[in-house]
Amino acid sequence: MRKEPYRIALAGNPNVGKSTVFNALTGLNQHTGNWTGKTVSSAQGRYQYKADIYEITDLPGTYSMLSYSYEETVTKDYLLHNDSNCVVIVADANALERNLVFVLQVLELSANAVLCLNLCDEAEKNGILINDKMLSKSLGIPVVKCCAVKNQGTEQLKQTIASVCKGEMICRHTEFNLCKTENYTEKLKALSTLATVICKDCVKKSNVNHVNKRTEKLDRLLTSKITGIPIMIMIFALLFWLTAVGANYPSQWLSDLFDFIKNGLYQIANSTGVPLWMKGILIDGVYATLSWVISVMLPPMAIFFPLFSLIEDSGLLPRIAFNLDKQFEACGTNGKQSLTMAMGIGCNACGVTGCRIFEQRQSRLTAIVTNSFMPCNGRFPILIAVCMTFFTTGTNSFLSYAEMTLILLIVIFFGVAVTLTASKILTKTVYKSKTSGFVLELPPYRKPQIIKTLVRSLFDRTLKVLGRAAIVAAPAGAIIWIFANARINNISLLQICTDFFDPFGVMLGLDGVVIMALLLGFPANEIVIPVMVMAYTSCTTLQETAGYEQLQQILCANGWNTLTAVCMMVITLFHFPCSTTVLTIKKETGSIKTTLLAMLLPAVIGISLCAIITLISGVLI
Ligand code: GDP
Repeated sequence: MRKEPYRIALAGNPNVGKSTVFNALTGLNQHTGNWTGKTVSSAQGRYQYKADIYEITDLPGTYSMLSYSYEETVTKDYLLHNDSNCVVIVADANALERNLVFVLQVLELSANAVLCLNLCDEAEKNGILINDKMLSKSLGIPVVKCCAVKNQGTEQLKQTIASVCKGEMICRHTEFNLCKTENYTEKLKALSTLATVICKDCVKKSNVNHVNKRTEKLDRLLTSKITGIPIMIMIFALLFWLTAVGANYPSQWLSDLFDFIKNGLYQIANSTGVPLWMKGILIDGVYATLSWVISVMLPPMAIFFPLFSLIEDSGLLPRIAFNLDKQFEACGTNGKQSLTMAMGIGCNACGVTGCRIFEQRQSRLTAIVTNSFMPCNGRFPILIAVCMTFFTTGTNSFLSYAEMTLILLIVIFFGVAVTLTASKILTKTVYKSKTSGFVLELPPYRKPQIIKTLVRSLFDRTLKVLGRAAIVAAPAGAIIWIFANARINNISLLQICTDFFDPFGVMLGLDGVVIMALLLGFPANEIVIPVMVMAYTSCTTLQETAGYEQLQQILCANGWNTLTAVCMMVITLFHFPCSTTVLTIKKETGSIKTTLLAMLLPAVIGISLCAIITLISGVLI
């Protein structure tokens, strides 16, 4: 047994199943999805095979290492400077010839390599037969056939990696006699020719091509000028509908459960003589805020994100980018922005990191600065909650869910419209750019791994985000309780603060409590509603902890009306991004100016829109 872990690098073209192989080897849950460009940073993990430990680095997917894009630089630098014991090159068995161009480049940098021929199940369906032994001979490295998504071939891959690391299997990688040129075109031509020659011997294709025909048919429907965008809207409508219908019941159950526990906690506290202030901080502060975060925020997140992951896994996202390319091009960027926006609906920080898929700096900065116009999972449930309480006819009826779906669609459209307008202005002013061509591969449609995706996305995204929110919610609950109960001249600190923000809040159709909740929600937007409720209920006698109906009672008792609800939705959609996103923007751009712009732009838009709406409604009423 070796003390040090063996170092393994995982490289490959985008969307060949590298993250799936990484997960199959390590048992970790690196994000997967059926579109090019989602893995833009390198992930690390470990696994044990027999007595040894293997440390594996998943490098960003790249088509070549001949130019200087972000992913290519990271991958090339890693292979050149990190002495890995073995490089596992993952290739798509469906497109071996194209993948080999990359394989050959890696082999120029690293002698110890294994070729993991992934997606063999799809290749078989497509009638593609690969002679792995002959391929191994041609390349001079071991070749392992895999279907990572079904965990097939992983054991053999681990065994082969171990043999290469220990020197039991010598990679005799052949001198390929490539022309020693640094010229990009010449080099690419030489590599492509060699790949064609190798494939001619090793790949046999039968005429069964029904999968391609199915892809063609679906593409005709999903990317057509007439049906493409309407189908896309319908898919999103279905997504919102399922979220709205599904979230309501668990939300109510959780709320009842938390109320029940709260009563139990009160009884325990009373019988053990816990001081009043401690009871207040722990039960009315920390516990009440946490239970709000969980009962109101968890159900929509737990439904929306797994469903969204299914869309991502099926291959629909790049088609959406394709359909919207014209609109984005008219605004100075390209369809890739719709991908980073979609990632932003999940989490703006992820959306910002995802902007690395842009080749042009200006387009990238424009996409980063406007990413928070898409409501992330911290803000999405706020929109749902306000919508449920103010804009639907009753609850639990077919009509109420239809109204809710329509309103959410309008909100997202509005976000998209503002993104397009802001992008147009930015690319004409601060980030002047010529429209760049849009090269994005449309991957094959894949049947999503339903159970796996649902479970993974619940644990990966939902619970992770909830955990982050809870970490912020607990101290925020305590602080707000102290604020509500500490008094100066018989006026609570909370009252003093909300009174201070009140004139500004009223100008925006809101109030001081909302402004304070938004400011306190800077670390995690998930706590905005619980903080508001804490602040409101500390001034009233309402005791219930959660649920949409209670929320409506609390808000109405504190002067909320339709105008307040509209302005709340607008300010939720447009205000400064959360602290994690801000830090990510600073890290990604290295520029304080860009970070400030990304904070100020949405805030200024939100404040202006709310002020205008309030002014107009004042004139009309
Ligand atoms: P990466 O971009 O290379 O990291 O690719 P991912 O690991 O995210 O996989 C891309 C898509 O291919 C996802 O939808 C995976 O579920 C799917 N996938 C990965 N490996 C296989 C496989 O062996 N067979 C099939 N049918 N699908 C796979």
